[in-house]
Amino acid sequence: MIIGIPKESLRGENRVAASPASVKALIKLGFDVQVQKGAGVKSSIADQDYADAGAKLATKKAVWQSDVVYKVNAPTEAEIDSMKEGATLTSFIAPAQNAELLEQLKAKNINTLAMEMVPRMTRSQSMDALSSMANIAGYRAVIEATHHFGRFLTGQITAAGNLPPAKVLIIGAGVAGLAAIGTAGSLGAVVRAFDTRPEVKEQIESMGAEFLELDYEEPEDTGSGDGYAKEMSQAFIDAEMALFAEQAKDVDIIITTAMIPGKPAPKLITADMVRSMKTGSVIVDLAAAGGGNCELTVEGKAIDAEGVKILGYTDLVSRLPNQSSQLYANNLVNLTKLICPEKDGAITLDFEDQVVRNMTVVKDGEITFPPPPIQVS
Ligand code: NAD
Repeated sequence: MIIGIPKESLRGENRVAASPASVKALIKLGFDVQVQKGAGVKSSIADQDYADAGAKLATKKAVWQSDVVYKVNAPTEAEIDSMKEGATLTSFIAPAQNAELLEQLKAKNINTLAMEMVPRMTRSQSMDALSSMANIAGYRAVIEATHHFGRFLTGQITAAGNLPPAKVLIIGAGVAGLAAIGTAGSLGAVVRAFDTRPEVKEQIESMGAEFLELDYEEPEDTGSGDGYAKEMSQAFIDAEMALFAEQAKDVDIIITTAMIPGKPAPKLITADMVRSMKTGSVIVDLAAAGGGNCELTVEGKAIDAEGVKILGYTDLVSRLPNQSSQLYANNLVNLTKLICPEKDGAITLDFEDQVVRNMTVVKDGEITFPPPPIQVS
């Protein structure tokens, strides 16, 4: 089978779904690979690098006619139209928000795997693109915050005077939050973090940050069993917001990453809290695309709210395109190993496999989303 790698058409997208290393790995699994000319330019991957790895450089039309198409963002209607009937597609799809897209894929009989549907379990960690991308976003959030902050993060003792370290608060210590904790700590900031899941306390402390404790305890367990958090009661949210109101006056940078899959982002930083922050402080709201954790966040924009910068960027991953493309391409190679067990360049979507079942949103002309709940053994 031929795997095609198109150039991403979404505005502002700098990533690409293959790297030279992933091309080599896919060829080893028995596939031919064709890459659209110029597909890697924005990720600093030259056509020649793909050709040297064994890929054929092809036109847009030829790439979309491949047996299998690997890409980053969901395809447009025109892109689906240019695919072969019965082909296979793997990309981010956002199936819960994209019913119409699923209908189009079904009509064209495109077997479709959605990268955001990789279940959070040990066996599928190497394919988990949401996590590999969130890790990059957490790092970049600190870089963006530092750029807008206009001060050192580290403390300095100099002949000309002493500079205290910046204080950084991270809300939500999942993949992005932990990456942000590590990055802010490595730049010398004093880092504090809060999460609704008390089990992350140890991880936070092992990275040299302080875990902020709440007086209030949720009566029931806060984990959902699938690696994601559950929605909290209003009493819990009120208690954590009281904590953030105290913290907002003290810290210089807040990075928020709080989210529950399938729910709007909880509003945790109010306009009053923003007003109470020191002039020159920065908030980076990683949940901007889901409605934002801060009341004043504007999706995709950096705004100045009376001297406090609020960054609602939704393209943090695309701002580090070379490495995000590499990691995303690796996630796809690991997925390919699962769906091509014979290493013979042919794909089998085995619904007995929970990872494959969960990710497959269209198969043989049927919409197979939502999948049945994962059985935890
Ligand atoms: P994750 O599920 O690993 O982490 C989210 C964390 O938030 C969990 O640990 C959860 O317990 C915590 N949380 C939930 N509700 C909370 C609350 N009320 N208070 C405190 N903590 C709470 O998710 P992730 O992979 O780390 O992604 C985090 C966010 O970053 C998501 O919103 C994701 O969409 C976003 N993201 C943004 C970009 C970007 O460019 N802006 C890129 C990648 C990911």
